[in-house]
Order: sequence, then C-alpha cells, then structure tokens
Amino acid sequence: MTAHAASRDQPAGRAWEATPADPVTAELWDSLGWEPTQEQLQLLMALQQLLRHWNARLNLTRLVNGDDYWITQVYDSLWPWREQLNSPGRPLRCLDVGTGGGFPGLALAIALPAARLTLVDSVGRKAEALKAMAASLGLGERVEVRWERAETTGRTPACRGRQDWAMARAVAAAPVVAEYLVPLLKTTGRALLYRGQWGPEDLLGVQQAAKTLNAEVERVERVQLPAGRGVRHAVLLRPLGPCPPSYPRAVGLPAKQPLA
Ligand code: SAM
Repeated sequence: MTAHAASRDQPAGRAWEATPADPVTAELWDSLGWEPTQEQLQLLMALQQLLRHWNARLNLTRLVNGDDYWITQVYDSLWPWREQLNSPGRPLRCLDVGTGGGFPGLALAIALPAARLTLVDSVGRKAEALKAMAASLGLGERVEVRWERAETTGRTPACRGRQDWAMARAVAAAPVVAEYLVPLLKTTGRALLYRGQWGPEDLLGVQQAAKTLNAEVERVERVQLPAGRGVRHAVLLRPLGPCPPSYPRAVGLPAKQPLA
C-alpha cells in the first residue's frame, strides 16, 4: 500500500493551513541543536492539525496539544537524529515499525527532506489515516505506508536487508523489537530502539537477542526531555553480517517467545 491517493475524507489542498495554536519556543530547538525551516515548521504544525482531525474518527494519539505534541512527540522523535538533522541531504532509507499516529516516522520525514520513509502498522485504519496525512502534507513521494505486521515486513524482499535505519517507539519489549528491526537492515544499517527507562537487565536482554540476530549493541544514548518530561534512551544495534534467514519468526512468535 503506498501513500499516493488522497482519501475521500481528506480536506482539499496540499497541506492544511497551519495555525500557530501552540507557542514553539526557540529553546526547544536550541536544546535539539537544530532548527526547522519555516516550511518544516509549517508542516509540523499541519501534522498537528491533521492528528486532531483524525483523532475525532479513530484513536491515533492523545498527545496533540502544547508540550504533549512539541516535546513528547516531535522532540522525542527527533532527538536521536541530531547528527543527521545537520546533514539533511543524505538520501537515507528508513523504516518505522508500529508507527501508530506517525511517530517517529512522519516527524522524521518532515525533518530529513532527502530521506525515504516506510511506515508500518498492523492496524488498517491507522495505516489509512497515515496514508492520507502523508499525502496531505505533500510527502506521498517519499513516504510509503504498509498495513501489515512487522514480522511480514521483515520477510518482504522490498524491505528486508534494505534499510539504512529501522526504528520503533513504544511497540514491544526490546528483544521483540530487535527481532522486528534487525532483519530489515543493510549490513551498514542501524536499528534504533526508542526506550523510556533503561537499565542493566534491559541491556543484557537486548544483547542476547542481538547476538541471535547476528548483531550487537553499538551504544545507548540517554536524554532528559525538556520541561521535565522525563528520561529517554536510544538503543542502537549494528548488524555483524546478514541476519539469519529464520528471523523474524512467524507472526506472533517474537512476542510470545522473545529471544531474551
Ligand atoms: N510508535 C508510535 C508512537 O510512539 O506514538 C505508536 C506506538 S503504539 C503504542 C504501538 C503501535 O504499534 C500500534 O499502532 C500497533 O498497531 C503497532 N504494532 C504493534 N505490534 C506490531 C507489529 N508486530 N507489527 C506492526 N505494528 C505493530
């Protein structure tokens, strides 16, 4: 399923008019070490409006107002990408598993104008909404939406072994997410697991899973979100070679019998 056709439910025009409903402070971008262009800011505001619109029809996300949106969604999606945000011309191929309302994937498509994003979600109505939102934002050429389970994506030749980056936020336990993401990577690629709290036991678990998948933990980064919004971690996995062909296992197995 690709993101070309605009939905019947979609308002006409390329993107919604952005309304400056929430103040976005310069400090937010300062602490990210990156500032959106005017067009990117307009698109982020348009995305916020679109989420409000679609929320009236299906439960995409609660976090659409004020700091909930700008910090807990936008900032939290972008902070692990500080290096890439400052080299926006790189033609990265990225895949977001369990994208839900489009985070981190749609925020990243706006912030990295040369990147191609594949957004995967197992809920058909969410995938339809995402497809319509991407088209309305004018991102249809660079954003593909797939309605399927991650275990299926990982066995699809157009996706498997082809991503520079595969990522997931708030989808499942880290060893489960590792099994979804690692098979999607080129051998030079990286898996990015967005996590909240993170401790030594979590690290042991994901190390064990990574080993099975012929990968290793490259590093774990930690950040304190602005305005006391809590601690976040980014766990990066690096392939050591091709992922064994038996992974990901059949739909449901990664979560039922996690690798760690
Ligand atoms: N990533 C978004 C975020 O951080 O706001 C959404 C998180 S939401 C809690 C989890 C999403 O993952 C849901 O939309 C669900 O449908 C999707 N999901 C869960 N397991 C999945 C799987 N195996 N394959 C694809 N999508 C999955």
